[in-house]
Amino acid sequence: MNTSNPLLDFSGLPRFDLFRPEHVTPAIEQLIAEATEVVNKLEAPSSDVTWDNFVIPLEEATERLGRAWGIVNHLNHVADTPELRAVYNENQPKITEFFTILGQNEALFDKYKAIRAGAEYANLTPARKRIVENALRDFRLGGAELPEDKKERFAAIQEQHAAISTRFSENVLDATNDYKYVVENEADLAGIPDDAKAAARAAAEAEGKAGWQFTLHFPSYFPVLQFASNRALRETIYRASATKASDAGIVFSELEKWDNTSNIAQLLRLRDEEAKLLDYRNFAEVSLVPKMAESPDHVISFLEDLARRARPFAENDLAELRAFAKDELGIEDMHAWDVAYASEKLREKRYAFSAQEVKEYFPEPKVIEGLFKVVQSLFSVQIKLDEAPVWHPDVRFYRIERDGQLVGQFYFDLYARAGKGQGAWMDDARGRRMTTGGILQTPVAYLTCNFTPPATVDGKLQPSLFTHDEVTTLFHEFGHGLHHMLTEVEELSVSGISGVEWDAVELPSQFMENFCWEWDVLQGMTAHVKTGEPLPRALYDKMLAAKNFQSGMQTLRQVEFSLIDMHLHYDFDPNSQQTVQQLIDDVRQKFSVMIPPSFNRFQHSFGHIFAGGYAAGYYSYKWAEVLSADAYAAFEEAVEAGGGEISAETGRRFQREILAMGGSRPALESFKAFRGREPSIDALLRHNGMNA
Ligand SMILES: [Zn+2]
Repeated sequence: MNTSNPLLDFSGLPRFDLFRPEHVTPAIEQLIAEATEVVNKLEAPSSDVTWDNFVIPLEEATERLGRAWGIVNHLNHVADTPELRAVYNENQPKITEFFTILGQNEALFDKYKAIRAGAEYANLTPARKRIVENALRDFRLGGAELPEDKKERFAAIQEQHAAISTRFSENVLDATNDYKYVVENEADLAGIPDDAKAAARAAAEAEGKAGWQFTLHFPSYFPVLQFASNRALRETIYRASATKASDAGIVFSELEKWDNTSNIAQLLRLRDEEAKLLDYRNFAEVSLVPKMAESPDHVISFLEDLARRARPFAENDLAELRAFAKDELGIEDMHAWDVAYASEKLREKRYAFSAQEVKEYFPEPKVIEGLFKVVQSLFSVQIKLDEAPVWHPDVRFYRIERDGQLVGQFYFDLYARAGKGQGAWMDDARGRRMTTGGILQTPVAYLTCNFTPPATVDGKLQPSLFTHDEVTTLFHEFGHGLHHMLTEVEELSVSGISGVEWDAVELPSQFMENFCWEWDVLQGMTAHVKTGEPLPRALYDKMLAAKNFQSGMQTLRQVEFSLIDMHLHYDFDPNSQQTVQQLIDDVRQKFSVMIPPSFNRFQHSFGHIFAGGYAAGYYSYKWAEVLSADAYAAFEEAVEAGGGEISAETGRRFQREILAMGGSRPALESFKAFRGREPSIDALLRHNGMNA
């Protein structure tokens, strides 16, 4: 093995100190060649297929490739350079090709079937049984069981589907980029914040135009809808946004070239055909096979129940907003383009506090200390600063120990900087497993955020100040990290978040967010940057009240999207006369409190389900919220029983039944083992201020 290439050194943590872009291609080529050689050997017919002689060598060969590529992928997201991007783009197709071919390899599929049918199976651990079952399921859903002629059609469907999905998002992007609306008179911009105005001015200037230019990019158009007191301007921008990439053609007739109508129809037809090839009645059934929800009917009744419970609150939200718009803003007949504007004014009036004011109570060191304290108390672990090679001087590295034993490690890369991708996420650097040599490989996580770095104020370095949203994001990502690091499973494919159903994967992350709303926790993790005072109770009460502002309307909106998605893939016949728009109108008639105007074509830019992985899966957001809220309610019950929110007993149980188990058993079983019953929707309603 070429040990001078740091990407080929698997003895410990990634060697970020030695990494250079020129290491990528030789390492990836060598690892693909090695993995291919292993696969070729394993393909050979054999009468004796066992866990040890088949699954283990296959996992080890692909793990090395996955880990090396994981480092490249991570650096590409957090430390992008032209050189790195070039080698990333050069090698990415090779990785995709390797794993795609692997997923359709019939010889390997047969070996898994042999293990399933063999005498050894009964004696495998539950985690190993689950790995075999998952592999068989994925091969089947990938079309590996189809007869030759159907297999060809299946592959053609995949190809067409990928191409049309790409066209769908390109149309959205092109329509977004193409739209430009110039406002010539500054008086027409009344109410819009200075930073949004300055951006619009700069956009116009860049194209040598006078005035202020607005586009359909969110940071450009949303401040108009939210703040512009000019109603006609709001309507113009709303119409443009709501008809984007559609047939509605209200704004520009030439936008028709980006019309997604036929792409939507074709995608739905291809999915329907794929489902029938695989012997399912519809695509929703296929989508749910690897998920926690049992059936489309199960999902629909969950969503309809949520809609029924949220409806009175949504009606109330809307009535309040209408009254406020009429009495205080002089808007007699509220339209879709008035909603964000009126809501913002109502919010300001009711909960007068600024995000800036809150921020001063959340200096970074205090927040991190508070986060660690919660985690240490809940899960009986210790978090300590550790050392490892990193990719940027701002990155910190920590270890988690229990009773002096190493449990896991993580990188904290918290600040925004050039060359780093947007948003916040958790990624795994290494998964937990017992190696064949009997050595335990502990898990390692990357935790990446994009917060404001510390700044020098009046000649003094001031710590980074987090908004409450950022604090919540930090807790959320740390929840994913805990799922990865506190696992006790020894099989890589189902340890930590690996193998967890994706409608359940947000449980630990959303669960952790709850602590950011606990008064007792907040007091310990706030200290005003100037006075050192903890967060005042009055400010906390306002934050809490604002948290549930219009939660009824927001819940119904999410339910509406989820139901549209589910019905389109379940009881909608894409080959019939019924149109997508008719189905959408129908769902809205039944469930929405405020029906959007007839020209609204939000589905034409609904990338989640037409260009992302969320087809018949959009419900997952609300589904996981039910699980996380209900799990958190166990901690609230511990308080009622006389303890604190940070109940170590409940925390240990949460760890044992949910975090430790990872993907080694169905999420529903883990949940029931923790709660002693099926999930209930009550806690989510209560947390959203919608108690019956
Ligand atoms: Zn998440």
